[in-house]
Amino acid sequence: ELLAPELESDAELAFEGALRPASLSEFVGQVKVRGQLQLLLTAATMQGRTPDHILFAGPPGLGKTTLAMIVAQEGNRPLRMASGPAIQHAGDLAAVLSSLVPGEVLFIDEIHRMARSAEEMLYLAMEDFRIDIMVGKGAGATSVPLELAPFTLVGATTRAGLLPNPLRDRFGFTARLEFYADDELEQVLTRAASLLGLDIDREALAEIAGRCRGTPRIANRLLRRVRDYALVYSDRSGPSGAGTADIHSVRAALELYDVDALGLDRLDRAVMQIILTRFNGGPVGLNTLAVSVGEESETIEAVVEPFLVRIGLLTRTPRGRVATPDAWQHFGMHPASAGTL
Ligand code: ATP
Repeated sequence: ELLAPELESDAELAFEGALRPASLSEFVGQVKVRGQLQLLLTAATMQGRTPDHILFAGPPGLGKTTLAMIVAQEGNRPLRMASGPAIQHAGDLAAVLSSLVPGEVLFIDEIHRMARSAEEMLYLAMEDFRIDIMVGKGAGATSVPLELAPFTLVGATTRAGLLPNPLRDRFGFTARLEFYADDELEQVLTRAASLLGLDIDREALAEIAGRCRGTPRIANRLLRRVRDYALVYSDRSGPSGAGTADIHSVRAALELYDVDALGLDRLDRAVMQIILTRFNGGPVGLNTLAVSVGEESETIEAVVEPFLVRIGLLTRTPRGRVATPDAWQHFGMHPASAGTL
């Protein structure tokens, strides 16, 4: 899915690698978080200590991994990458922690998916730079303390609510990443277009920015499809041979991929159209809605609704989901009057 905020493929991973800003000053948006992070890192450098542990929370594709890399780069520290789902036993974590070098930044993506036993080991490691390793089994088991090199843990999570409190409390700073504003997305796109060698004007960039659901990863992905379109269909090849894109090619390319003017995808549209047509704008309960579009109610609640609510097409009320006047307008429909129902 072009609008899914998760990574699509290895090719996309390589593309993202090339586009990642390498310093805080190159990182677009998240102004507050950037300022807080800068202060935390500068103070640590001034005192010659490792920065406090940092947690980045927020939806996928907003820059958590990028910021973790920047934390390492700004302090000129080595970076170790790990991921929560790969840490299924305390031993997996012990192997990583015991091989860290002093000052290293340990990034654990999806930290909420780590095994419980590893989480408990992490509490002590974060607080005292020490772990207890169990040697032997049963009555003869003993715990042997192991000193660790001081390190900075950078955790990333899309579900901060799932982290146990003792773990959450051990981070010195929690940054909540917000969706990006259109002008920030335009800056992200301008940089990506120049790295791709794509000749594209301001109006065309604004059009992509408006359709990428506030998410830089989606912005970059849509830009790649526009680049393809420009490459194949534009008459002029542009300065670097990568094509020339304008508002018309952006609209044509994104229409081809079913991304509408607000960045709604097929499922978003199905949900809205059912509320508007079958329930005359609502209210309609979550389960009824899920059955009507043939999706799990969890998917509707966690993936579809937050975006529809954020862009003002849907409201949640105690009696159910209700379409807003903007929704009627976006779909070019009008509520049926009571007499015609
Ligand atoms: P996930 O949780 O899915 O791993 P993430 O939040 O870690 O996502 P990143 O991998 O850091 O997201 O970013 C996704 C892409 O968006 C990268 O290509 C990155 O270059 C780009 N990006 C993210 N934030 C910014 C930004 N503020 N400025 C420029 N590019 C950005």
